[in-house]
Amino acid sequence: MCDPEAIRGEHHGLLIGVTGGIASGKTTVANMLKALGIPLIDFDLLAREVVEPGKPAWRDIVAYFGERVLQKDGSLDRRVLSDIVFRDEEKRKKIEIFTHPRITEAFTAQLNEIKKNNPDTVIQAVVPLLIETNLQDRFHKILVVYVPAEVQVDRLAAREKITREEAARIIKAQLPIDKKVGYADFVIHNENSLQDTQNQVERLVKQLRTLQKKRRG
Ligand code: ATP
Repeated sequence: MCDPEAIRGEHHGLLIGVTGGIASGKTTVANMLKALGIPLIDFDLLAREVVEPGKPAWRDIVAYFGERVLQKDGSLDRRVLSDIVFRDEEKRKKIEIFTHPRITEAFTAQLNEIKKNNPDTVIQAVVPLLIETNLQDRFHKILVVYVPAEVQVDRLAAREKITREEAARIIKAQLPIDKKVGYADFVIHNENSLQDTQNQVERLVKQLRTLQKKRRG
């Protein structure tokens, strides 16, 4: 187990966990925050990097599941893997055991790198399944990017070019977005125009910088 306090640390810059539902606009909002000077750590990217061919998590997965989970180029075949873990909870846990500590390691390394160059900055980490994986304690504040469930279905269907029914099925696998809002310190409502979202993000950044100043004392 990692020690959450060791990761976020009281002396560190304010660390914000950004989450929401699938296609609720996490990336959109994170990019707006980034453009306003809030460095971004992307958990999905870290999760992909730790299983690149040859990396320790990749080696553990191949040793456990065999080469049937590999594509021709040696990278993991996500479809095969998700088929396996969809039906088998124990195997899903195995993958987590192989990957989570490595993701935490990579996260901490990136956090330290950012802090080295900019010790007092507010930092954001986009973690799609932050609540589902119970990572709230790793962050000083939680930001949920919210859209009503119907908008979420429409946007996912449009982006993935799938039917609304398929989109609804994918969304159902996650904790409902309305429940996630219950964990939020801040909520951005992303159901309206991008300009509307941008305005909320600008207000939020002012709040975050004020909080960060207070932390510094
Ligand atoms: P994922 O969970 O799949 O990583 P996400 O939460 O990061 O998705 P985005 O990719 O930012 O969500 O947005 C989902 C889709 O909705 C994208 O196609 C994006 O362009 C669109 N979108 C985001 N915000 C708005 C908005 N305010 N108005 C219209 N479309 C939007």
